[in-house]
Amino acid sequence: MTAPLPRHDHYIAGSWVPPAAGTYLPSVNPATGAVWYETARGDAEDARRAVEAAAAAFSDPAWRDLPQPRRGALLRRVAELIGEHAEELARTETLDNGKLLTEMRAQLASLPEYFHFYAGLADKPHGQTVPAARREILNYTVREPLGVVVAITPWNSPLLLTATKIAPALAAGNTVVVKPSEHTSASLLGLVPLFEKAGFPPGVVNVVTGYGDEIGGPLTEDPRVAKVSFTGSTATGSRIAASCASRFVRTTLELGGKSPNIVFDDANVADAATGVVAGVFAAAGQTCVAGSRVFAHRAVYDEVVERVADKARSLRLGDPLDPGTQLGPLAIESQRDRVEEYVRLGRSEGARIVTGEQRPDAGSGLADGFYYRPTVFVDAANTMRLCQEEIFGPVVAVMPFDTEDELVALANGTEYGLAAGVWTRDLARAHRVSARLDAGTVWVNTYRSMSPMSPRSGFKSSGMGIEHGTEAMDEYTRLKSVWINTDEGPADDPFVLRS
Ligand code: NAD
Repeated sequence: MTAPLPRHDHYIAGSWVPPAAGTYLPSVNPATGAVWYETARGDAEDARRAVEAAAAAFSDPAWRDLPQPRRGALLRRVAELIGEHAEELARTETLDNGKLLTEMRAQLASLPEYFHFYAGLADKPHGQTVPAARREILNYTVREPLGVVVAITPWNSPLLLTATKIAPALAAGNTVVVKPSEHTSASLLGLVPLFEKAGFPPGVVNVVTGYGDEIGGPLTEDPRVAKVSFTGSTATGSRIAASCASRFVRTTLELGGKSPNIVFDDANVADAATGVVAGVFAAAGQTCVAGSRVFAHRAVYDEVVERVADKARSLRLGDPLDPGTQLGPLAIESQRDRVEEYVRLGRSEGARIVTGEQRPDAGSGLADGFYYRPTVFVDAANTMRLCQEEIFGPVVAVMPFDTEDELVALANGTEYGLAAGVWTRDLARAHRVSARLDAGTVWVNTYRSMSPMSPRSGFKSSGMGIEHGTEAMDEYTRLKSVWINTDEGPADDPFVLRS
């Protein structure tokens, strides 16, 4: 008899709560294709319970009246606890979404910084005194928390993307309900008890799991929710934004991308090729900022193609727990199928494959996992669907350009505007081109760097609102203006109000 799989329930008001309907959904280890745990399949009733817990915690004096510096201290304690549990959290996420353990260890090493950074901002959101036309009037502003924040995250980086939302949301005094992807709930369920261990009152942080339409939708539609912070695909983000807008509920949206990575003829081409490969094949291409369109100046085009293809060919596919592995599996079987479809589509559109286009063969020992070889296309046109639609997999198209004007038009020629890379040794060009790119983040001679201190946002269909940086605090607060008439004398004219 086989042992039953571990089961994860919702985490609501500090307790593990079974799903109202009593059903669970399987979660698959993408490196082996085996189900390794089951997680609660939440529905509207579970959403209702979680929001109720978060709303109650928001109005409870234990949280509402906690002095702001104490909030900061709790966030610092969470940061320390994450450090203590880093290895198990990293391993859990690797088993859940196939990200390399080496990358997850690095991510866990930086994760506490998000909580430390926003801990430092917990007692900073103050208003100001506003100049008034009359001496008798005192006008000041106050920054207040919003209330219940719903955070919804995708499968590629559950811990990091949750931290970017809940650290500022909690620093600002809100309470939160997090709904991770139905494919990757385990690492977050490992993280959430650390909040109460740190001293957060029960109900301030809640996690519920399940499918987007079954529990995600009801969460975003609950009238007690003040804000929805969403990271995921542009299609889902657009639906959530429309529903929230109709009720004037605030949203922050971090969505998809089709980012250009640009190599000029004066670049260090060897470094650029490394940056291109890391920019698109890291996490098997499952990063929102993947530099999936590479534009190389015609003078260095052949060299870029050759170097990128050579590196792609030599990447070691394997078990993401093995420190020698350079490319793990796709996180979900259907995502691997989708990548394959896009590769077929690219070929049918007329682009040519230099390397890739295969699953590992049966003898590789990887056939049960959701692996796909890194694939490099040439002879592609920017207008092809291959170059316009987000694939979210290890697929890149390398295209030539001749002039800076042509390059800028090509780089900006998609509906997205998330990120861009520029490889050049010409400082003036670096500034000039960065200024002309429609991208919320531009990296010059590097790619994928990020920090809690630096604001991130998506332009065009890549999102709305800001994450990271001091700016994110504004996303989780509302500004109130208070006018006080200090003149207690009789009014000259009762119908003329003093201002
Ligand atoms: P997705 O949009 O399918 O799902 C994201 C989350 O939304 C999941 O938790 C899902 O259950 C939930 N969801 C789905 N339908 C919903 C609904 N109707 N109401 C409420 N919630 C719903 O995205 P995905 O496939 O999990 O993730 C990949 C996408 O995420 C890519 O497009 C990628 O670019 C994007 N992403 C963006 C960033 C960024 O910072 N811009 C970062 C990482 C990933």
